[in-house]
Amino acid sequence: MQRLIQYIKTFSLWELLVGLKLTGRFLFAKKITVQFPEEKTPTSVRFRGIHAQRRYPNGEERCIACKLCEAVCPALAITIEAEPRMDGSRRTTLYEIDLFKCVYCGFCEEACPVDAIVLTGFHDYHFENRGENILTKEKLLAIGDKFEPQIAADRAVDAAYR
Ligand code: SF4
Ligand code: SF4
Repeated sequence: MQRLIQYIKTFSLWELLVGLKLTGRFLFAKKITVQFPEEKTPTSVRFRGIHAQRRYPNGEERCIACKLCEAVCPALAITIEAEPRMDGSRRTTLYEIDLFKCVYCGFCEEACPVDAIVLTGFHDYHFENRGENILTKEKLLAIGDKFEPQIAADRAVDAAYR
């Protein structure tokens, strides 16, 4: 009897019909694919994308060159040089992040006492030339200026959970 059922299944292409049934079920289901990069899926406010340096509303850079981010970075991706300004405040003369070393752990962001270095939600970036993996202070500040509204909004939401 078992053998007869096996023969019937073989000649009626039973397995194929079972497979097509599954295909048919998804053929008319709601699609979840998006047309990236025109369409984007939502990201968490804690998403760790490319880094940015923030400024205060008066345009002054937040970073006070305390080097905590450099000390805490497990990948040794951050390089800082600093010296006092004429007014006595400390500011960086060199701030670089090597994105080839960075593991996007977010420790630099957590360690920063003045909310200067942050990881933005922006993740679809690429490099075309040698050396573009180094984020200089100028590049970081430019990214910060570009994404400041989003950074501020994300941090306001995140603060409610802390
Ligand atoms: S995210 Fe982590 S690995 Fe990357 S620079 Fe910050 S501390 Fe270093
Ligand atoms: S980014 Fe923050 S932690 Fe790093 S040196 Fe500047 S103030 Fe200190």
